[in-house]
Amino acid sequence: MDVLQDAEKMTWLDLECNVLRTMQTVNQLDLEGEPLFLTLSRTIRNLLSPVLYELELENPADFWPGRARDWTWMESALDKDWSTLTLTPRLKRLLFRRERVLFVEEMKSAPDIQFTSTAGKSLQSGFLLPLTCGTSPLGIIKIFYGRTLYPLAGEVEALELLRRELSILLDHIRTHLRMQRMATVDGLTNLFNHRFFQDQLRTEYQRALRYNKSMTLLMIDIDDFKGYNDKYGHLAGDRVLAETARTIRNSVRDIDFVARYGGDEFALILPEVEADGGMIVAEKIRKAVEAQRFISEDGETIGSISVSCGVTDNRSAASPDILIERADKALYWVKRHGRNLVRLASDNDQD
Ligand code: GH3
Ligand code: MG
Repeated sequence: MDVLQDAEKMTWLDLECNVLRTMQTVNQLDLEGEPLFLTLSRTIRNLLSPVLYELELENPADFWPGRARDWTWMESALDKDWSTLTLTPRLKRLLFRRERVLFVEEMKSAPDIQFTSTAGKSLQSGFLLPLTCGTSPLGIIKIFYGRTLYPLAGEVEALELLRRELSILLDHIRTHLRMQRMATVDGLTNLFNHRFFQDQLRTEYQRALRYNKSMTLLMIDIDDFKGYNDKYGHLAGDRVLAETARTIRNSVRDIDFVARYGGDEFALILPEVEADGGMIVAEKIRKAVEAQRFISEDGETIGSISVSCGVTDNRSAASPDILIERADKALYWVKRHGRNLVRLASDNDQD
């Protein structure tokens, strides 16, 4: 077949070397999200030139935080075509149990593979590569062509090598990213932790200074959270913290940085936003939190909370520490003046 480039001229040993050489180009542990999926698809397209390539992962969020379980990375060389290539759960189970490349000679006679194409195109043959780590499934790579293939045994072996190498690589990347996240993410709220916030604040402050851009810092603290814990219990309090974190995260842009500063306090860095814009974001968050209603596991209403917020930007702060100090002072001004408010930092906030 001519699936692998110049296949006729190569021995399967050459093909294996090609696969291994190609794998070295992907071997960057800290790739995640779009760069990882682009690199993988580019690598496979260079090596195998399929008409349709898809990487369906068991848990995409391991590699790209926030992605849903049914999210996949798909690329099609079919012109203006939105295709879906779905495998039945039965076929997926079989693939993961066999842990081998599956050659699909004729799509038409494979009832466990459903291909729909908006442009009415069809696929003939292809390969399914189950990626596994031990007995646990990582995902499936789908490589399909518009014509019938007649692969030689050595070529299937080369794809088998690719399958094993990619399984190892993805498992390493997953472990690396998990460890990296454990060091930077707070376990209860899934927000970044205090230490990483401090690093990020310094990085963003320097970047804004160098490019003459603005940046805004928001410090947010839950009002009377001790009272909430006392009334509904510490576990209910934990859930409130996690849900409030989600509400805050959902109220801002993807590029905004949200951290748990500690206890019931959150810190947000908004790049390229001035204090006025920061006040609008803060008020949006305050309202969203105020509107939250908490429900216990047995369906009872367990109250609501409010937050206070201090806002400042880099025009009025000569260092990252002064940014924190000003936002904190504005926050504590609100605490002394009734709570459930947002305040722009001012030089009079000590009063
Ligand atoms: P204020 O309006 O002045 O902020 O009052 P407050 O009661 O919220 O006081 P403060 O912010 O000083 O205290 C934070 C409280 O948050 C203390 C602690 O009981 C609670 N807290 C801190 N971390 C956690 C946590 O991880 N889980 C729970 N359930 N409670 C926490
Ligand atoms: Mg508080």
